[in-house]
Amino acid sequence: MRERTLILVKPEAVQRGLAGRILARLEARGLKLIALKFLSVPLPMAQRHYAVHEGKPFYDGLITSITSSPVVAVVFEGRDAVAVVRATVGATDPVAAAPGTIRGDWALEIGRNLVHASDSRETGESEVALWFQPEELVPWERDTDRWISENQ
Ligand code: UDP
Ligand code: MG
Repeated sequence: MRERTLILVKPEAVQRGLAGRILARLEARGLKLIALKFLSVPLPMAQRHYAVHEGKPFYDGLITSITSSPVVAVVFEGRDAVAVVRATVGATDPVAAAPGTIRGDWALEIGRNLVHASDSRETGESEVALWFQPEELVPWERDTDRWISENQ
């Protein structure tokens, strides 16, 4: 099913100069870019984004980390985009992430795992709405769509 998902290229990935290569992998998969911005994450935004993890032992470190340095926020659209991106990103703990995934190739620790990606269709929709205003989501016709998808 056609859906949208939010990706955050986390501070450690931006600092390490991996932002372009991370986004290139997702773009090359055939996902369609809908929105993109570079920003320092305000504390309330970080708290809202990670509200589901509040109270967990890693929560404070997570908030400190995501607000420590800028991120790239991106919306991709495509068939089963949530599952496709999660699979390309790899397991949360890079030690368990398969080689060939972003975390499996470029990360070592769970607290420095490079990327956030929405984990369901519903969180995809709510996270896109949290990070982007409606007018920041850009509608466009992609001429290669018929070479990526059978059914347009
Ligand atoms: N995290 C952590 N320690 C843990 C579990 C999670 O530092 O034991 C961090 C990690 O950066 C992870 C984020 O919290 O990406 C959100 O956790 P979640 O389980 O939602 O993983 P994700 O959806 O990012 O794979
Ligand atoms: Mg998650």
